Amino acid sequence: MERIYNFSAGPSMLPVPFLEEAAADLLNYKGCGMSVMEMSHRSPVYEEIIQDAEAALRKLMDIPDNYKVLFLQGGASTQFAAVPLNLLSKSGKADYIVSGQFSKKAYDEATRYGDINIAASSASSNFSMIPEFTMKDIRPDADYVHICFNNTIYGTKFPEIPDTGSIPLVADMSSCIISEPVDVSRFGLIYAGAQKNMAPAGLTIVIVREDLLGKARPETPTMLNYTIMAENGSMYNTPPCYCIYIAKLVYEWILSIGGLGEMKRRNERKAALLYDYLDSQSYYTAPVVASSRSMMNVTFVTGDKELDKKFASEATKAGLANLKGHRSVGGMRASIYNAMPYEGVETLVAFMKKFAEENPKEN
Ligand SMILES: *Cc1c(COP(=O)(O)O)cnc(C)c1O
Repeated sequence: MERIYNFSAGPSMLPVPFLEEAAADLLNYKGCGMSVMEMSHRSPVYEEIIQDAEAALRKLMDIPDNYKVLFLQGGASTQFAAVPLNLLSKSGKADYIVSGQFSKKAYDEATRYGDINIAASSASSNFSMIPEFTMKDIRPDADYVHICFNNTIYGTKFPEIPDTGSIPLVADMSSCIISEPVDVSRFGLIYAGAQKNMAPAGLTIVIVREDLLGKARPETPTMLNYTIMAENGSMYNTPPCYCIYIAKLVYEWILSIGGLGEMKRRNERKAALLYDYLDSQSYYTAPVVASSRSMMNVTFVTGDKELDKKFASEATKAGLANLKGHRSVGGMRASIYNAMPYEGVETLVAFMKKFAEENPKEN
């Protein structure tokens, strides 16, 4: 069967070469007589898998030695609670930059645990850009500052890593992790649900600086306690074994093509193709302010809700799936994560041109 181009925001496409590898090993993983799904997480074979996964991610992201890598469950949404429970350790204050729905959810969840402030928000511009802020907007005694680095729903991304001085910066990177090199040392903590750019749903990655461990609030559930998870090598309980295995193959795939520098080059090339087309015509509009554009999630509208609907349904018939925008914003969104090939975006742009010709707007 032919594979289609899947522009879903998540779960999303995975790279074919390693899907083939996973399929080949499905019934009998390297002579074990069983699949990775069926083996004990305490077996030597599996221990090697999880260790290799961590080693590959460390190499890929150039993670410094004073950071722990955790393989957790519960999705990025569980981190909305885990972050304040583990990090509200001194003043009990944290400052949040609200740049979209997920950062608003993170903020709402954190307010249950401490004195949480919105330092900046782009809600008034309908989240069409990343809000600007300086150190003056941050309380000097905040335990951390939280951002969502790439806003999956609106298609915006921080143009650079904000400087929060000595206050730890915490970033939700669910929809942009391993899409390009990032200086991990600029962050106190990075977290990401795996289903956008790394693996199937069910795995959450946390990368946390060691000096932030050991300060969780007493009521922190064991399963949300980073220190306990770190001490147990992410195996306090059964980890999401198969997802971690898939993540390992994805990391190794990116390393094999040249690492995150090459991944970025490919992603930039894809995003440029789409944005250049959007900028060159007037049938479609890209609502995001140019300096805040995401390389992973590209949003656009025709300005006519009926045409938007028709676009998404005709695109699906043409083998371009899941282009409908998020239910809260409408329009269209093309998620072009690592696994989306350049040809997928070329096919999308060709379809957009054809659709514009065949569906002239009245007026
Ligand atoms: C998808 C997404 C989430 C929610 O992730 P879950 O794993 O479903 O909880 C949170 N933040 C961002 C930026 C996302 O893209």
